[in-house]
Amino acid sequence: NDTILEVNNLKKYFPIKGGVLRRTVGHVKAVDDVSLKVFRGETLGIVGESGSGKSTLGRVILRLLSPTDGQILFENEDITSKSNRQLRPIRKDMQIVFQDPYASLNPSMSVQELIEEPLIVQTNLDKNERKKKVNEILDKVGLRTSDQLKYPHEFSGGQRQRISIARALVLNPKFVVCDEPVSALDVSIQAQVLNLMADLQDELNLTYLFISHDLSVVKHISDRVAVMYLGRIAEVAPKREIYEKPLHPYTQALLSSIPTVDKNSRREKIILQGDLPSPSNPPSGCPFRTRCPKAFDLCSEVRPELKDMGNNHYVACHLYE
Ligand code: SF4
Ligand code: MG
Repeated sequence: NDTILEVNNLKKYFPIKGGVLRRTVGHVKAVDDVSLKVFRGETLGIVGESGSGKSTLGRVILRLLSPTDGQILFENEDITSKSNRQLRPIRKDMQIVFQDPYASLNPSMSVQELIEEPLIVQTNLDKNERKKKVNEILDKVGLRTSDQLKYPHEFSGGQRQRISIARALVLNPKFVVCDEPVSALDVSIQAQVLNLMADLQDELNLTYLFISHDLSVVKHISDRVAVMYLGRIAEVAPKREIYEKPLHPYTQALLSSIPTVDKNSRREKIILQGDLPSPSNPPSGCPFRTRCPKAFDLCSEVRPELKDMGNNHYVACHLYE
């Protein structure tokens, strides 16, 4: 497999300031020792509750945030500590589609201006060449040439997300972080946008890191799925493995709460106890132990590392040692 992106022992800690002196009194461990690979042309789904660190992970990978520790390799090039100036030529290849197309599009810019802007910033194309690119990408995302003169408020949520996608793809990137790209949309529109993204992936040879809290959305679009809990990866495997043979008690609980089509394989719903612990004060040992129905002594003492279970299936849980 051809690896486009590799992350080794990545950490992102945010300082918590307290007291009159605003001293650092602790850290939110948003991403806590994550290692993963993304293969060229695939969609790696990242799934987790809000507060699991998945959005922070996406932003650190793109170097929109600097990592606290660890390493990021993009196309075998170490981009962990590159300056903004050094990152400039690489940014063109790495783009992001945000969750909220209402907040992420400048309302005072026309569609034309919104999509042309990255070309002005990142390329030396002249006005005519830019115009041609804008027209091409509008057509690809299913918008009309005449839509160019309109403003974001004149469009529905789904159409706006098409504008955001056009803006991200106009530079012809290789790797796109999709951060909950359909979560703000009506369920009836979600499938349309997901299908569009899948078509564009094939047509433009894109690799996606697809972040979502919604297991059914991730199932629709991913080749592999990584499950995050409190800043760490609990389990990562090809889609079929995750959905048919989940090994981690957390993955099992998440899956038990989504409806299955197959009536014979109806799963018992596993109710998780308690809330997600604070990422500033995670439990010792296994971060899931305070809510795990299968926790035993070792779980509070030793942090489980990802273990290779075969078939590209990795799980971080002491039950499998
Ligand atoms: Fe549960 Fe222990 Fe496995 Fe963590 S390591 S998921 S607490 S059984
Ligand atoms: Mg695909």
